Amino acid sequence: MKLCPCCNVELIPKNVPTYYGRYLEVDQCPNCYGIWFDKWELVALNPEGTRDLEYRDIQSISCSPTLCPNDQVPLKPLKDPLIPKDIDIYYCPKCLGTWVSIEDLLKYKEFQKKKMHTKEQKEESSKELEEKIERLLSYQETKNNEMENLEEKIAGAVSIILVILRILSKFLK
Ligand SMILES: [Zn+2]
Ligand SMILES: [Zn+2]
Repeated sequence: MKLCPCCNVELIPKNVPTYYGRYLEVDQCPNCYGIWFDKWELVALNPEGTRDLEYRDIQSISCSPTLCPNDQVPLKPLKDPLIPKDIDIYYCPKCLGTWVSIEDLLKYKEFQKKKMHTKEQKEESSKELEEKIERLLSYQETKNNEMENLEEKIAGAVSIILVILRILSKFLK
């Protein structure tokens, strides 16, 4: 059972489409509508997929996420030049899941969509993208197993998130 890092209520699984046709299961809070993405799921979510998530205007609810729903590690803000400043994304340094409020998710996906529409998207490049990400992930796993130092592991893992964001942003340009 996964609990919302903001409201501590049980998260509800939702199926949403990715860029490359598959579906993934994310977890949404029935109270604040915030969404938990396991490793890499946030970047893979198709902007159109946000339609399958629940949304209500909840500006009255403001909360700052605390602990990871998977392993109760404190969440940290994800800072990257590729993420617009008004969008708050939090990640777990242990399992690399990400937490984002529904407002910020919509803003983030809108931002990705704008980039996507600036140039025509080619079918084969989404396949290439998927392969590239899978290669990176398997590379990261081998690397993780070789590394003994936990801090090194975390640093390696976080930079891989950023590398994937960069690949995606290049792809979307
Ligand atoms: Zn919540
Ligand atoms: Zn975690």
